[in-house]
Amino acid sequence: MALLNGKTALVTGSTSGIGLGVALGLARQGANVIVNGFGDTEACRAQVAQAGLAEKIRTGFHGADMSKPEQIEDLFAYAERDFGGVDVLVNNAGIQHVALVENFPVERWDAIIAINLSSAFHTTRLAMPGMRRRNWGRVINIASAHGLVASAQKSAYVAAKHGIVGFTKAVALETATTGVTVNAICPGWVLTPLVQKQIDDRAAREGIALDQARVDLLGEKQPSLQFTTPEQLAELTLFLCSPGADNVRGQAWAVDGGWTAQ
Ligand code: NAD
Repeated sequence: MALLNGKTALVTGSTSGIGLGVALGLARQGANVIVNGFGDTEACRAQVAQAGLAEKIRTGFHGADMSKPEQIEDLFAYAERDFGGVDVLVNNAGIQHVALVENFPVERWDAIIAINLSSAFHTTRLAMPGMRRRNWGRVINIASAHGLVASAQKSAYVAAKHGIVGFTKAVALETATTGVTVNAICPGWVLTPLVQKQIDDRAAREGIALDQARVDLLGEKQPSLQFTTPEQLAELTLFLCSPGADNVRGQAWAVDGGWTAQ
């Protein structure tokens, strides 16, 4: 029997990058998976279904915009109706914007706080009653190395990611005597569209080749000089879902090639 047979996982922002990698890992371990996000949603759902084929999983999709609380409520009504609730909640949807604070567009600040932080409050408050009732649940927040340390020109992102690390600790304490655990994962650089855009911008700004921009980006922060992969983050997610992690609570677990060890 696979680790997550009979459980349902919701991964927000699972149509790309880290979220898709985590959704595939959960499906391979037998979880029913609800996919969420924008883009080629049907292709992503099909990929997740394929990953869980041997375990006969079910997949679902809901296109809630995670900046909109009423759409998140609709997503949870769908999860309850079609899957009987959410056992594994991975709060992953996120966006980035890079600018000095005095130039930071107010609308971008609001969007980053809504998608990267407030959405996790809404999903967690909606998932928690069912998790408590079943006395089992996993809330895994994809934070960032920027939940532990800062970088210039990322004030909204750093504020949101520090916020979600604090939120993780608070809810972990609220659930400490239950079968529900709440933890955060703090990746360093992962080569996804979110980071590729920063590499492209850097190459254009400095008039250098993309390869050079990639090496410079890593060299500045990540001592291993290697990107973390979505597959590695999926493996850690699966560990946090396993009985071995029953007493791992309120942690912010860095997977950052040494970034925050400096
Ligand atoms: P990505 O751009 O590849 O994927 C983002 C996903 O979120 C997509 O599925 C997108 O459709 C979805 N999304 C965006 N806005 C949404 C909204 N309003 N509602 C619903 N879905 C929405 O990004 P990624 O690099 O895979 O990042 C995923 C998470 O990991 C983010 O929270 C990000 O902050 C975090 N993270 C990424 C890195 C990295 O280096 N890539 C490092 C640390 C943390």
